[in-house]
Amino acid sequence: MHDFQYKRDELCCEAVPISAIADRVGTPFYLYSYNTLLSHFRVFDSAFSSMQHLVCFSVKANSNIAVLKTFANLGGGVDIVSGGELFRALLAGVEPKKIVYSGVGKRPDEIEFALMTGILMFNIESIQELELIDFIAGTLGKRAGISFRINPDIDPKTHPYISTGLKKNKFGIDIKKSLDEYKSARRLENIDIVGVDCHIGSQITDLEPFVATLQRIRELILELQENGISIRYLDLGGGLGITYDDETPPHPNIYAEAVAEEVSDLNCVVILEPGRVIVGNAGILVTKVLYTKKSEEKNFVIVDAGMNDLIRPTLYGSYQGIQPVKLTERNEFVADLVGPICESGDFLAKDREMPQFERGDLVAVMSAGAYGFTMSSNYNSRPRVSEVMVAGDRFHIIREREEYYDLVEAEKIPDFLVSK
Ligand SMILES: *Cc1c(COP(=O)(O)O)cnc(C)c1O
Repeated sequence: MHDFQYKRDELCCEAVPISAIADRVGTPFYLYSYNTLLSHFRVFDSAFSSMQHLVCFSVKANSNIAVLKTFANLGGGVDIVSGGELFRALLAGVEPKKIVYSGVGKRPDEIEFALMTGILMFNIESIQELELIDFIAGTLGKRAGISFRINPDIDPKTHPYISTGLKKNKFGIDIKKSLDEYKSARRLENIDIVGVDCHIGSQITDLEPFVATLQRIRELILELQENGISIRYLDLGGGLGITYDDETPPHPNIYAEAVAEEVSDLNCVVILEPGRVIVGNAGILVTKVLYTKKSEEKNFVIVDAGMNDLIRPTLYGSYQGIQPVKLTERNEFVADLVGPICESGDFLAKDREMPQFERGDLVAVMSAGAYGFTMSSNYNSRPRVSEVMVAGDRFHIIREREEYYDLVEAEKIPDFLVSK
């Protein structure tokens, strides 16, 4: 459950009416419930209490430093995919030995930053990457903990853009070659083999692909052990789905039971990299109706948030719930909820049954806590929106709305263009 509920016809976040926040900070804005973040993290973490484990929140799902701090305070680690995410994690006080680094394109400067930080491990996606990490570690006099990201060739049955564990995807190394790769990694001087890693995709609502992956990874770990390569960390990645509409993903407890069944005898520390399942339903995007109009074929509700603020519907055709912030006696109609961006792909909901919104109404776009703000951009020179966190009966601005000056701060007009 989450903490976005109607109280006397007013949508509230915990004890705070959302309209009161809109009055103070303007629209649009992202809004997160602190207590939902807490309880989602705790539910997920305690699901794995029967085994040695570390929950490494996937920073790319929501990288606001107040959100990261919330999890760091609970003893959580993070999964990062860039130097920028490492920088954020350190600002939020995440312990270096609880940081794992994933991604196919780690740059030399990012590798150096991570080695100097002393992170737990790099999840290796290619042999060239491994060799570079070995080399950089050598020049710095450091050792690099690594695991190979295994591509198990499993179909996670999710949107193709967020499937990552199929042979045709760019991620990881082929499971068939992995034993050989581990054997050759053993010869590298500055590398410590510490784990096995996989991550098959996102918004997975079925247990079956997870179980199939676990079985393959289990076989690999046993094979590695037979070859004298002991594995301390088993990183299972993220990917557990959430309910946006009518999906019925397995509860973390069910997922954890399946994990326990396959790995409890392996004597590994299990690392989990959940993103969406922790933050997705802990956040919403609040926007205001600017205009409504009716064409021959359609009703349009034009709001002040667009695809630059929340790109998931455009990018994946994904569903976000649409709710009025104030319940009224309005009739319903079928309409498109669209933004101000000059693209026909700029919509937040299409052909959706919704209240007959009118100018000035506040609209809550639900389940926007994951891959919402982090995927936002300045397209159409729109300043990025503010982020607000509610805890109990108080709200806190955790990111100020950008101003026009922020848009151009890093830009320069070269002298030759300036007329004398
Ligand atoms: C994106 C990502 C995650 C988080 O995925 P969710 O579906 O949000 O849980 C975890 N690990 C890696 C390597 C990722 O790329």
